Amino acid sequence: MKAIASVQRTNEILNKYGLRAKKGYGQNFIIDSNIVENIALKSECENACVIEIGPGIGALTQMLCIHAKHVVAYEIDTKLLEVLSDTLSEYDNVEIINEDFLNVDLDSVVASLKKKYGRVVVCANLPYYITTPILFKIFEANNQVDCITVMMQKEVADRFSASVNSKDYNALSVISQYLYDIKTIIKISRNIFNPKPNVDSAVVQFKIHDRANISDVNAFFELVKACFKQRRKTIYNNLREYVNDSEVALRILDKTGISANTRAQQLSLDDFINLYGVFEDERKGIC
Ligand code: SAM
Repeated sequence: MKAIASVQRTNEILNKYGLRAKKGYGQNFIIDSNIVENIALKSECENACVIEIGPGIGALTQMLCIHAKHVVAYEIDTKLLEVLSDTLSEYDNVEIINEDFLNVDLDSVVASLKKKYGRVVVCANLPYYITTPILFKIFEANNQVDCITVMMQKEVADRFSASVNSKDYNALSVISQYLYDIKTIIKISRNIFNPKPNVDSAVVQFKIHDRANISDVNAFFELVKACFKQRRKTIYNNLREYVNDSEVALRILDKTGISANTRAQQLSLDDFINLYGVFEDERKGIC
């Protein structure tokens, strides 16, 4: 096995196919084989099927093929299909699907992969321009993935460990912390990519915990997003807009014991869970 993630091999592949990394697709290829192997090993892919988003020329995919039971990789760039069938030709446990991941019916894909392979995990070096929509898509799927190991821009990684009242704390922090225990497991220098990006990166791991017990999680997520909709506005103003009724908004806040002047970034996860409980009762007419 010759590692794809090296300076020489990556240049060889790019030259052979006359390729240039496409900025619009967030293409930065990893050129350090120790890093890709480390990410694959930490992704809990052993005995599992891995979903990868954006295999590129196959640097991480190759290590996933070696360590996982099966790999399903979604790549938006049609030009890379021919490259991947060449670079990954020695592995028979990989499927490359030419599709925008944001259009994938993730619920049914995860359900059928779980049926076939038992466990499903996600591992990827994400296209940074769509990190947030990709993560929301995975978090909001009814069929949950219990381990997600993804590389992202360091500034975005910081949001996941952000606590109340900090500038990085937002809807994504609340929603991800509700579902997962989150850890930055590897810090990554910008020097291990071709082309070299302007930012440093980090690999973040999300592991599902069993403390989440709201039955309609998507309704909870919608409420959290609505509370953060306009960050500078008070919770009252954002909530009033969401429920479309100022009296109801005030009543919900009063019952939850949250001051109308509070801002969403001042509320802890537990505050949001309490707020949702009262909001739900109000919606069902239980006053
Ligand atoms: N995994 C490779 C690596 O680590 O060297 C490449 C990672 S590169 C940061 C991101 C990859 O995601 C690119 O191959 C890009 O074409 C692909 N991509 C971008 N947008 C996508 C989308 N919406 N759906 C699927 N793949 C996408």
